[in-house]
Order: sequence, then C-alpha cells, then structure tokens
Amino acid sequence: MAKKQFKAESKRLLDLMINSIYTHHEIFLRELISNASDAIDKLYFKSLTDHSVSMAREDFKIHLSADKDNRLLTLSDNGIGMTREELENNLGTIAKSGSLNFKKEHDLQDDVEIIGQFGVGFYAAFMVSSEVTVISRAFGSDEAYRWNSSGADGYTIEPCTKESFGTDVILKIKENTEEEKFDEYLEQYRLQGIVKKYSDYIRYPITMEMERSKLKEGTGTDGVDPEYETYTETETLNSMIPIWKKGKDEVTDEDYNSFYKEKFYDFENPIKVIHSKTEGAATYNALLFLPAKAPYNYYTKDFEKGLQLYSNGVLIMDKCADLLPDYFSFVKGLVDSEDLSLNISREMLQHDRQLKVIAKSIEKKIKNELAKMMKADRETYVKFFESFGLQLKFGVYNQYGMNKDQLKDLLLFHSSSENKLVSLSEYVSRMKSEQKYIYYATGESVARIEHLPQTELVKDKGFEILYFTDDVDEFAIQMLREYDGKEFKSVSSGDLGLETEEEKEELKKQEEESKDLFVAMKEALGDKVKEVRLSQRLKSHPVCLTSDGGLSLEMEKVLNAMPTDQKVKADRILEINASHPIFSTLQKLYASDKDKLKAYSDLLYTQAMLIEGMPIDDPVAFSNAICGLMVE
Ligand code: ADP
Ligand code: MG
Repeated sequence: MAKKQFKAESKRLLDLMINSIYTHHEIFLRELISNASDAIDKLYFKSLTDHSVSMAREDFKIHLSADKDNRLLTLSDNGIGMTREELENNLGTIAKSGSLNFKKEHDLQDDVEIIGQFGVGFYAAFMVSSEVTVISRAFGSDEAYRWNSSGADGYTIEPCTKESFGTDVILKIKENTEEEKFDEYLEQYRLQGIVKKYSDYIRYPITMEMERSKLKEGTGTDGVDPEYETYTETETLNSMIPIWKKGKDEVTDEDYNSFYKEKFYDFENPIKVIHSKTEGAATYNALLFLPAKAPYNYYTKDFEKGLQLYSNGVLIMDKCADLLPDYFSFVKGLVDSEDLSLNISREMLQHDRQLKVIAKSIEKKIKNELAKMMKADRETYVKFFESFGLQLKFGVYNQYGMNKDQLKDLLLFHSSSENKLVSLSEYVSRMKSEQKYIYYATGESVARIEHLPQTELVKDKGFEILYFTDDVDEFAIQMLREYDGKEFKSVSSGDLGLETEEEKEELKKQEEESKDLFVAMKEALGDKVKEVRLSQRLKSHPVCLTSDGGLSLEMEKVLNAMPTDQKVKADRILEINASHPIFSTLQKLYASDKDKLKAYSDLLYTQAMLIEGMPIDDPVAFSNAICGLMVE
C-alpha cells in the first residue's frame, strides 16, 4: 500500500521525536493518556445531550497493557474514536500542540527546551517506539481503521475490524540502546510510576493488569515449604481525584508546581499557589497560580485571560474570561463548582448569576492573597510586582478609576529615601508632620530622576519622593488624587507647598525686582514657554522646566508617543535659580545686550528641555551656539 506523506511541519516534529533529542522520554505516556482522556470527555459531553449514547460516567476507562515478549505497549480508550478522515487529519498534522508556533514566533534555536515545556502530543510516541499503530472506530460508526507509521517516511491507513468504538494505540517499543533501556516502558512498576507522576488527576480510571505473586495454597504451613504463584489483577493506577479536590495537606509543593507547569505551559514554578475551598453563596474549589514572569505576549492584544471552568470535575470551558477582572488577568488556574450546570452554553454562562458570584469571590481572594504576601513576604511580592505591577497600575487608571480603591494598596513605587519599592501606606506613615503632600517625580529611570534638578528642594527638606518610571504612573495617580487624605504632588508642579510665609514674601519681592527681565526672556522665547519665573525649588542647578495645569511634561511625552494625530503640549514654565551666577549674568545682559539675552534664554530653555529628556527643536543650532561661546 502506498504511503502517505506527513505535512512538512509534522515531519520536523516527528524527526525530533524519532531522533530523541529530548531526553525526557517518559512523557510520551502522559501525552497518549491525555488524548484518550480528551476523547472520553468528548463522548461524555455528547452523552449529556445525545441520548443515543448510553454510557454512564463510570463506564469510561483507559486501559494499558504491556506485552513484553512482543515488545508491545497498548493504550485503549472507549472515547469518541476517529473516522478515517479524522485519523488522516489529526495524526497527519500537528493539531494544536502549539510548540512549533511558539518556536517560530520566538525564533528559538533550542528545540529541546521547547519540547520540554509544551505538550508535544501524539508524536511523542515515536520517542520510544519504532512503529506506531492506531486502531480506531468512531462512535456511531461500524467501520474501523488502522493507521500505521514507522516514522518520518509516511503512514498508511486501511480498513480493519474493531469490536467497539474507541481507540487503541499500539506502540512497538524500541530495542535497548547503549544509552537507554527502552525495556522499562514495558515494566508494570515503571508504567505505574509514570501514570502516578503525570496523570494522577485524570478523571477516568487508568487500569492495567498487574502481576502479583501469592503463597500457593497448602504451602508455607505444616512443614510444607512455601511456594509462590503469580496471578494478575486489574488495578486502577490513578487516584482520579483532581489535585484541586484534594486537601491542602495531601498535596506537596512539587505536585502543585508540576501540575501548573504542565497544565499552563510555563517554564518556571509559580511564585504563589492559592488553593481554596469556598462554601456559602458560591460553593467552589479554586486552584490559582501567580506566574513568576509575565508571558511573552502578556502586555499585547493577543493575550487571553481566563480560568478553566469545571463543573464537578468536568471541564466546561478552557478560558473563562468572566472569572477574572482585567487587572488580575495574570492569574492562571481553575475553578470547579457544583453549582454550574454542565449543559450550559457559553452565551448563557455570561449571564449566569452563580458565575458572577464566584467571580466576585475569586477577585476578593486574589486581592487578599496579594495584600498578605506584600506584608508577609515582601521579596516575593516585589518579584510579582516587577512582572505584573504595570497591570495593577493600568487597573487603577482604567474605567475612570472605578477600581482604584481595590488596588491602591497593592501598588509599589521606588522611594528616594528608602531606595527600594515602597507602598503608599508606608510612605504616608513616614511623612513628616509639616509635610502636606505625597511627592513624586517622573522620568525614564530611577537613575535619571535621581539627578533631576526639580527634586533638590524637596529632598533638601528631608521629604521622601516616589519615583515614577512607568508611563502609566502619573495617569494612575491622577485617578487616585489622594491617598489617606494626602494629595499627590509632582516635584515639577507650580506650588510645592514648601515655603514659609516669610519665604513667600521674600520671593515675591525678588520676583517684583526681576519682573522686567523675565518678561523680556518670555518674549524672547515666544510661545515655547508660558512663563519665565524665579525658582523656589532649585538650590544648585541654574534652570529647570516645570508645568502648569493638569498636563505634565511627562504626560505630554507619553500621550504624544501614542499613535494618534492629536498632539498635546503641556504649559511650560522656565524656572531660573536666583542664587546661581547665571542669574546676575542675565540681569547684566538685560541692561546691556538684548540680543545676547535672547540667545542665552534660548540656550537655557534648550538645556532645560534636555534635562527633562524632551526632544529639542534644533540640536545643530544648539551645538553651534555652545561652540560659539567656547570660542569667544
Ligand atoms: P492535541 O491533543 O494537542 O490536540 P495531539 O497531537 O496529542 O494534539 O493529538 C492530535 C489529535 O488527534 C487530537 O486533537 C485528537 O483529535 C486526535 N486523537 C489523538 N488521540 C486520540 C484518541 N485516543 N481518541 C480520539 N482522538 C485522538
Ligand atoms: Mg494531546
């Protein structure tokens, strides 16, 4: 019979499997069992609505049998089975294991890594087999087909007979090599171990004939030497109790971690596991995980949030988005509730009251766990925040700040005085008695903000400053407006609320004296600035830019970086330090050389822009002007 060819992508994966680059061969069994369990799920689903399926839950099973003499390992299920077309389409192509896609998107070189992290699917069978045969009969059909392949050179499909619906996967186990004893995959204890390790929570019994030995009757007593005989017994290898239905004390960290990594395709252990049983308005089990790192597509449109939803141990939806608010979209895991009907459709689920109650309860749970972790295990919380803090800040800002009160106590910002991430409540608890505001400064990085002239005076007063380095920070804080009755204040904003009455008087006087100079400078700068004024906040630096009104320079930067045509402009104020020598130079020029005053005003403005990290209009002119000064 002519062999059919595998699709190109499949062939690549198959090659990898056959050449066994990946050393973790034992997972082939997990993959085949998971396929069998999926096939049973499908039939079970059908049985709920289609009364021609006269199967009850307990009728389903997956059976393993090993034939050492012929080196055959057979995995049988009484699931939905496959038609000829399905055998062709499902086993001739990579269905959805996703590993190759992921690899392509990431241009990863290391096949081994990737295969290790993802379900590799059916082809994993070729890691341990020299030949794979699949005999399948689709539910409702009386035809059966036999699919066979010895590897990358193709496969055949032909009609055959099979007594009942379902699928048998028959592996011809490879001969032992120098490096590996494939024999072990025919040993009952080894197989039992693999099933326990990877497939313990499969909800259908996985059975196997186990060979046991017992004392032969009439021996071992009355002076008769003991003799043993062997017998076989069908045993169920898996506990079938899903991990989330077990008590916390029955599950080890290792169990949680491997369950998480396998189920949610992560490379790393989660940094937090939330396992809970809730009773009351909503009765459900939840097993939730906080990933250690944001998935590669987390902050993109492609990311899909959601928890798996089970109804009494049976999966009804893989990614139920309604169970998680956007600001907790990083949470992975599952919810199992007896209160939900299995037959419920996706559309109905959205309006399901019970589901809403569960979602609210889960949200509260996550929030409490995060708050607890922040207090009790700051190191882990910081790690979490570095991955997902941005999402929490978006959460404060989004929907007009509707959720800000939920989230404000979960935020962290870098602190000038503590030199680490601190919470708002910690900041407020340290505020000095004379301090009116929660001060913050914005910039690209902590290092850059550290050197901002605008922070000088506030720091000099001994007040702590929060450093905002994310684009969303200032927007989020504008939504919050205040924390614990204390308003937020940018170190770049007009009035810092720092001077005493006397200082204010003094400043007014000085300003009055230099009024004409500043008017002249403002005229020289045109509409680049709204005003030139004497600075209260500068101590050693000559100039800085601040802004007036609701829009800060940082927000201008962020908004203008967005792909819209509408550009915004913050009202710029150029502040001059009266105690800096440049001030007297300016005063002199005002009296003697108006042209030079204009040129110097321009230079000072451009410098202030540079300090802010803003683009300057004409770098060449600026550079030439500086050189001009150097040559003089
Ligand atoms: P995945 O399980 O991720 O879809 P696999 O490579 O493991 O990918 O399996 C490919 C497809 O083959 C499955 O989606 C399913 O349609 C089909 N299949 C595999 N094993 C069985 C089985 N025992 N019974 C019915 N269909 C199966
Ligand atoms: Mg699979």
